[in-house]
Amino acid sequence: MKYFNLNWLLLFIIYTTPASSKNSYQIDHLEPPFWWAGMADNTLQLMAHGKVIADLEPELSYPGIVINQVHRLDNPNYLFIDLLLSETTKPGKFDIVFKESGRPLISHPYEILKRNAGSAERQGFSPADVIYLITPDRYANGDPSNDSSLRLKEKSNRQNKDGRHGGDIQGIIDHLDYIAEMGFTQIWLNPVLENNQKKYSYHGYSTTDYYNIDERFGTNELYKELSEIAQNKGIGIIMDLILNHIGSEHWLMYDLPSSDWINHNGEFVQTSHIHESIYDPYIPQFEKDLFTSGWFVETMPDLNQSNPFLANYLIQLSIWWVEYAKLSGFRIDTYPYIDKDFLTIWSKRIAREYPNFNFCGEAWNNNPSMVAYWQKGSKPYDGYISYIPSMKDFPLQKALVQGLMSEEKWDSGIGDIYRVLANDYQYGDPYNLLVFAGNHDMQRIYSQLSENMDLYKIAMSFILTTRGIPQIYYGAEIAMTSTRDHGELRKDFPGGWAGDKIDAFNGIRLSGEQREAQNFMRDLLNWRKSSSAIGKGSLVHYPVKNGVYVYFRLYENDLVMVMMNNNKRSIRIDPGHFNEVLAEKNQGISVLDNRVYDLTSKINLPGKTALILEIN
Ligand code: CA
Repeated sequence: MKYFNLNWLLLFIIYTTPASSKNSYQIDHLEPPFWWAGMADNTLQLMAHGKVIADLEPELSYPGIVINQVHRLDNPNYLFIDLLLSETTKPGKFDIVFKESGRPLISHPYEILKRNAGSAERQGFSPADVIYLITPDRYANGDPSNDSSLRLKEKSNRQNKDGRHGGDIQGIIDHLDYIAEMGFTQIWLNPVLENNQKKYSYHGYSTTDYYNIDERFGTNELYKELSEIAQNKGIGIIMDLILNHIGSEHWLMYDLPSSDWINHNGEFVQTSHIHESIYDPYIPQFEKDLFTSGWFVETMPDLNQSNPFLANYLIQLSIWWVEYAKLSGFRIDTYPYIDKDFLTIWSKRIAREYPNFNFCGEAWNNNPSMVAYWQKGSKPYDGYISYIPSMKDFPLQKALVQGLMSEEKWDSGIGDIYRVLANDYQYGDPYNLLVFAGNHDMQRIYSQLSENMDLYKIAMSFILTTRGIPQIYYGAEIAMTSTRDHGELRKDFPGGWAGDKIDAFNGIRLSGEQREAQNFMRDLLNWRKSSSAIGKGSLVHYPVKNGVYVYFRLYENDLVMVMMNNNKRSIRIDPGHFNEVLAEKNQGISVLDNRVYDLTSKINLPGKTALILEIN
């Protein structure tokens, strides 16, 4: 009944009147807008949206493609058209003709494209990579003409810390050389799909159109161009996708295909945000359901992925972007909030189309077992099966900061890092976790560490040498500071806007500390690229003793030793203690200053420092 109000009745009468029918029908959306021949799965479900098009019957004539089934839901403005392709389907164009009683009334062009060579075999991001996380509105404004759009609600206002500042895709393209020279090999952009919310649209986490890049960031073509240019510089692009919810201004919200498209029948019910609900053996079912079916916030209607049409829609748009924009990875927002049976199906399908692709989920929980639950290859208590290869390592981020900021005692200090890593037995693949010191949702890491350069260097040394795939938030490389306020921690990268006095891209007017941080990061990142022990090696670590944490990375003949001293005082370290790993090797060279260390005698490690040695 929801859709059959008086207006609909009126429209129904108008559109079914024979005299007017010929010109009345139109297709407002047909998604996915095109597809490819030769995908692993040969089914494709088109969603056609237009006034009362459920009255019409779609037909097409193209070799190797048939319409298998047509579905009509509650809302007469939708048709779901199941196409069946075959192994021999060739790329090409055709029309989908929508007929009424055999009379063609409208037709819509469709295209099947040829896949790029090696598309299915593409390599996703890996532990050999370092990911640079960018909030695109806040990085660089390469095209001031797109800062505001006539069509989109929120206009640019750089004075508002929570507003749009004009950063865009062109700004990132313009600075790819900086990113490459720093030593980053992947870029994860916070969401760039259209976000037509009235406020706080800059962060991008309220998608209002899954098939279009936000005009204030650029175009689909420009996003693809970014991916291609970046690829030529050895940098992959990771797309941030939100499958849990949409923005309340999504066009779907004005005309839902069926009332169960959105959880709680489209009415706002707050999620509990209690992640433990998923795993808690004592929790009542109502509370358990509330976590996944409740809305993240009122402006983010919660998608019901158990609806098979919506599930198909989300699966296809994911594949569409990988194929179209030549992606090397996904980062999936609010992972545990999503229907978990859907996640099994979704992740299986992505992995089937792209067996070497990598994608990562966000489960913001500091308990390793509750992160491990989701990763492919883990063996959770309830037998849950997942195909997502990577998760973000929140427990390790917490342990790193807490460990560095607390006193060295038996149950605090950097032993926290050791103790969290000892939980790695629970993960399907701990080496494929995404490790980070800070991200777009937390206070800047330099500020979390009380703006202490020594601690900052230890934290960065750790993130770039422990197991996992490091992710660095833009600005961390110049030790940017912030409060906990979101608008503030995502502040503009200096040098990204015409007229900026400080220009971090070109090292102009940086403070001494900023310059020190940037040089430190550049050296470490570029060394990391060359180290197969770090990129491919296993981890061996020793329990923390007297505030000193020592670990090794090993790959074939490459061996890297890292020592962290979290005491204020210097400590003399006896390399003999690590004979089991060092074996007969007796010399180490510091990767940052080429200083040679004799491993047959004690090493003096100054207070609050980390030392990274290549062992030979
Ligand atoms: Ca702009």
